[in-house]
Amino acid sequence: MPQEDHAIELARRLVRVPSLTPVTPDLRPAAARTLRLLADFLEPAGARCEWLSFQGGHAKWGYPVDNLYIDWPGASAGSGLCFLGHTDVVPPGDDSLWRSGPFSGEIQDGFLLGRGATDMKGAVAAFAAAAADFAARRRAEGGAVGTSLLITTDEEWAAANGSRRVLEWMAAAGKRPSGFIVGEPSSEEIFGEAIKVGRRGSLCGTITATGVQGHAAYQHLFENPNRALALALAVLHAHRWDDASPEMPATNFETVATRSGDFGATAIIPGEASALWNIRFTHHESTATLSGKVKSLLEKLPRWANGHPDAPLLSKLRVIANSDTASMPYFSAPGALAALASAIVARHCGPVPALDAKGGTTDGRFIHDHFPGAEIIELGLPEAGGLTRAAHPGAFGRTGGMHQADECCAIADLAQLTRCYRDLLFAEAGRAA
Ligand SMILES: [Zn+2]
Repeated sequence: MPQEDHAIELARRLVRVPSLTPVTPDLRPAAARTLRLLADFLEPAGARCEWLSFQGGHAKWGYPVDNLYIDWPGASAGSGLCFLGHTDVVPPGDDSLWRSGPFSGEIQDGFLLGRGATDMKGAVAAFAAAAADFAARRRAEGGAVGTSLLITTDEEWAAANGSRRVLEWMAAAGKRPSGFIVGEPSSEEIFGEAIKVGRRGSLCGTITATGVQGHAAYQHLFENPNRALALALAVLHAHRWDDASPEMPATNFETVATRSGDFGATAIIPGEASALWNIRFTHHESTATLSGKVKSLLEKLPRWANGHPDAPLLSKLRVIANSDTASMPYFSAPGALAALASAIVARHCGPVPALDAKGGTTDGRFIHDHFPGAEIIELGLPEAGGLTRAAHPGAFGRTGGMHQADECCAIADLAQLTRCYRDLLFAEAGRAA
């Protein structure tokens, strides 16, 4: 069976397991089952599997997590590409929104359906199939199999006991990969459009305004906290960070939730109003500079806000930045690995992929903590599930993408990704020789 067919079959088996991040004990067996499927697939190809379970280390999210580190005996500690992947998935939401159930693993009209197809069981299966093919040929030639896989079941939630801990273990065990490939979705619409070379970080926090509750018709007697909060958010939304680079979008502030008052009562000024905010930030910022900036923007108001009648109320706001749960950004200057991957993707797909650092956070952010200077690229399936504007105008961006209902991936993309991974493994082995 060709390696592409192995990848598709393995992806289907992985998608059929409802492997939500094991935040509660009942979820742990399913998550571990995906790792068992991978071990059963790669051990016959000569792979050595190291089961690594970790827990604790986080005040709130210390739940136990199973991880798998896979390599081949005989390869020197300092060789080969290491693939970073996860087999946990986000919850499927309302089952009725899925045309064939969230974990069906069915193939319809050239698409594999199910939660995790794109993010990122498809890429995990593609790399495993490519590595098995690579291993078989290298072993037939009497050469060492220089590649490894780090697969976690804790990426979609806290990531406290997943990749971060396994990377720490790898460094202590003397593993020295020549570079890292993260299998996260890396292009928006068309497979191979982009390769990621970094990601912005993420910092959340709250702003709370305390007022005086009372009758809305006697507003002069009370104090409406929504006034202070609304002006504060307007000031923060108006600020522009000037730290974009050709690869990475600038830092930006978004309000993601607000809470105040009672929608069932029209004549009450509430006593408190609060907002949850999220800043996505570049590697030019830190959690300290960002929380300082939020506070200083509200203390030293821009001229347009200074004259606002609610400006004096801002001095009473309480601003909290949740630095302990922040995800840090990373950037890996494109080098030999990015050049190799670009050339291979272009050979299979056409145009040379863009190298950018857009999109959400990934476990790639932990690599430089333990392997400083290692080159990192992210190459995976398209974020929109292989649906394109041209062929799927009604569905594109609305359904079928990662974390959406009806998540899917195009079988053709999965096959292309498998071929790209395989070529990359051979090219890297040739480069190292
Ligand atoms: Zn993912």
